[in-house]
Amino acid sequence: MPTDESIAKINWLIHSKNGGSHLRDLMGGKGAELAEMTSLGIPVPPSFTITTQACKVYFDSNKRLPDTAWTQVLEAVSILEAETDKIFGSPSNPLLVSVRSGAVVSMPGMMDTILNLGMTEEIANGVAAQTGNERFALDLYRRFVQMYGNVVLGVPADLFESIINDHKISTKSLLTAELSPKTLRNIISKFNELIEDSAGVRIPSDPQSQLKLAIQAVFDSWNSRRAIDYRNHHGIAHDLGTAVSVVAMVYGNRSSQSCTGVVFTRDPSTGENRTYGEFLVNAQGEDVVSGLMTPRDIGDLKTEMPAVYKELIDVGSRLESHYRDVQDIEFTVEEGKLYILQTRSAKRSAQASVKIAVDMVDEGLIKVEDALLSIDPSQIYQLLLPSLDEDAKQQANNDQRLIVTGLGASPGGASGKVVFDADLAEAMAKEGERVILVRSETSPDDVHGMIASVGILTSRGGTTSHAAVVARGLGKPCVTGANNMEVNPVDGYFTCNNIIVNQGEEISVDGSSGEVFQGAIASVIPGISGQLELTKLLSWADDVRTLQIWANADYPKDAQIAIEFGAEGIGLCRTEHMFFEPERLVLMRDMIVYAHILSDKSTDTLTRKKYLNTINRLQLFQSNDFENIFKVMQGKPVVIRLLDPPLHEFLPNRDEILEEVIELRLKGENRSLLSEKEKLLNILDEMRESNPMLGLRGCRLGIRYYEIYAMQVRAIMAAVLKTQLEGISVQPEIMIPFVGHGNEMRYIRDQLRTTIDEYLGDRNKHVNYKIGTMIEIPRAALTADEIAESAEFFSFGTNDLTQTTFGYSRDDAEGKFLTNYKEKGIISQDPFEVLDRKGVGQLISIAARLGKETRPDLVLGICGEHGGDSSSIEFCHSIGLDYVSCSPYRVPIARIAAARAALLADRHYSLIPISGLP
Ligand code: ADP
Ligand code: MG
Ligand code: MG
Repeated sequence: MPTDESIAKINWLIHSKNGGSHLRDLMGGKGAELAEMTSLGIPVPPSFTITTQACKVYFDSNKRLPDTAWTQVLEAVSILEAETDKIFGSPSNPLLVSVRSGAVVSMPGMMDTILNLGMTEEIANGVAAQTGNERFALDLYRRFVQMYGNVVLGVPADLFESIINDHKISTKSLLTAELSPKTLRNIISKFNELIEDSAGVRIPSDPQSQLKLAIQAVFDSWNSRRAIDYRNHHGIAHDLGTAVSVVAMVYGNRSSQSCTGVVFTRDPSTGENRTYGEFLVNAQGEDVVSGLMTPRDIGDLKTEMPAVYKELIDVGSRLESHYRDVQDIEFTVEEGKLYILQTRSAKRSAQASVKIAVDMVDEGLIKVEDALLSIDPSQIYQLLLPSLDEDAKQQANNDQRLIVTGLGASPGGASGKVVFDADLAEAMAKEGERVILVRSETSPDDVHGMIASVGILTSRGGTTSHAAVVARGLGKPCVTGANNMEVNPVDGYFTCNNIIVNQGEEISVDGSSGEVFQGAIASVIPGISGQLELTKLLSWADDVRTLQIWANADYPKDAQIAIEFGAEGIGLCRTEHMFFEPERLVLMRDMIVYAHILSDKSTDTLTRKKYLNTINRLQLFQSNDFENIFKVMQGKPVVIRLLDPPLHEFLPNRDEILEEVIELRLKGENRSLLSEKEKLLNILDEMRESNPMLGLRGCRLGIRYYEIYAMQVRAIMAAVLKTQLEGISVQPEIMIPFVGHGNEMRYIRDQLRTTIDEYLGDRNKHVNYKIGTMIEIPRAALTADEIAESAEFFSFGTNDLTQTTFGYSRDDAEGKFLTNYKEKGIISQDPFEVLDRKGVGQLISIAARLGKETRPDLVLGICGEHGGDSSSIEFCHSIGLDYVSCSPYRVPIARIAAARAALLADRHYSLIPISGLP
């Protein structure tokens, strides 16, 4: 419970004339920008905002607001009365208001808003008399009862919709706007009956009580299931609370000279600098974005209401220059007069983010640094994701597989199985299916299904509909407004021009062109060279960043991609993958078995001969692999890690061999095969470990079976010599995994040097190489000074370092108890995705410092998956690592993230909110 003293300091309410963007924490996004626009002289209806502080007090006081707060609300309402020349509760000249939620961090559509509040039957009659427009008055009243019933009294929204639909059918009306006053009265009385039946109460007939309950309901919507889910998904804190803005109503549903709509100052899908948006004549509020009707293109407004259109464009460009960012603007026109009801930074596709940032620099609107800071690096990933292959599409067209063309609402292309239900989409995706969510329209309740889908298709709604906005934020291809389609979720199919597509059948959507095809279509992955704006942005990033970006690449083709994406070296080349190819796996198995036999019976000369023979053959394969990678890398550093995983990964499954042995024994025929299998089983049993991930692996293996490591370094040196013969320089770096003790490092380093010296000495050659280690065990980090005595570089293997620091086995944690931990708020982020700075990060800092004490020119890098995560990259920059190494496809992300990290470390810059996120 808050104390009296703390209550006295609360800012309960701020009138828009006294607020502005700088009060966003108190007023929420919507309220702060309404206030900002008010002071800019933009036409906004009068309003005030109840603060997020008030919301917190409300929750802290068992959902009650102190009387002082209510008194201030009523005073603020009387100011609205004076400003609008209307009276709250007056039947002859009523002031109606909207009660709108507005969080500090935008959560579009997650919380509730109530329009036309202050309505009663008597007032509806008054409005009808005053305006001479009974349909209008009853439309307001109908909307109010519906929204209040749903938001404040909790009656399910679809029950209202089905009453409206029944009346549309019985009166043969297509649109709600066509319903006669008589029908509207019938609907309203059915609504009131419904509310009494399901909620057991009536809507208060006194506007002040309506207001009080509505404000509480909006506060409560902060803790609705879907708002909580949304915050969990986007990592938004749960204790911020929402503000509530109370805004005088303006009426887009008043006449055919009235309308409501949404405009973006630039195209949020492509980034093109053109006004983009939609409107509906004679409509109100959510009508445009609900997806229930397909609105008209904003271009039509130019012909229909030229003066209003011009003013709207003007306001748009003023707001864009003021905020120096693309705006998403809600507007309403009442009898030819324009009002702005909301402005915010527009959510946009990845492609649009990049184009807009680069264009705005070119237009002189923002600086290069602002452009870099305006991009969410992880969004860049989407630009490298697949789109439908044009030739394959042409073929599908020829085969008459094009079913429908809707609106291209979010770019990219995908094929997947049709699913009509968000829960089912989520369940199927968990099973590894690629699904496309198909609905007539989407609502916030579908978001989890959209996240699980590879694409989204809706029959209704425009390019500013819920489906479109959310899909762009998520980076999923989306087609909306496919009007010819009829979706029957209950029976599990959709139809379109006589074609029936059942749930589970495959379709392909092209979110750029709006085309929808039957069956799967091949996709292509775009490179970056054709993406001019992206190339430009990346080169700006390269000028700013100090961290080098290397890539993890096991094969020449990965190295090739890494180079194309701008990698400056290979930070991790894992040699074990090379052994998994079938013809090599056989050799690998033989080698392990021989090595095992020899470790017991070193005098077995026949086995030794076979052993060395196998090793030589493997060495040839390896040397070939390395040579090809060196050639691709053209003299850039290549860090090769010697064999790391536990050997059982290369051996046959023990239980399967046991079965074979039993079967052979029963049959009793093939004696020699049986004895061979029995030997193998014996070896498998001897080599079996209880915890292989903490067993004989990494350098332990290299020390026990040194010949394997010796073979690998000879292969490296052979490859170096061959590559150099072609006039290509090589910088090989040999990395020892899983070191935990300085003596391990020294032992292996000395052995390897001897082997290399011998190999090169025999050939009379000299090669510059480095030997270093991965730091992936806490003890290694804590004794890094000793390890650095024999290691020339450190590479932080943060996957294993996270496992060993937390004591978590990743496979047993992720998607299992870690999910549970997240739900319980014990951890907020998966430490395998975002580096845990406090624990793992601390070990890295210690290791970096100790290592440099011993060896000032020690090269430091990171090669875990964190190397491609922007928050982790920021950390790596802050502790002065030399490079981050990530998967080839993440190299462009890392280049931008590293630039942002450099900018943020400079105190002249601060993080501006990333607007591209959903
Ligand atoms: P959301 O956060 O879901 O966008 P809003 O509070 O912006 O909810 O309101 C929902 C819809 O109602 C929007 O289309 C908005 O423009 C409209 N609206 C809100 N207040 C008013 C008002 N005072 N007059 C007319 N339309 C309004
Ligand atoms: Mg809004
Ligand atoms: Mg490891």
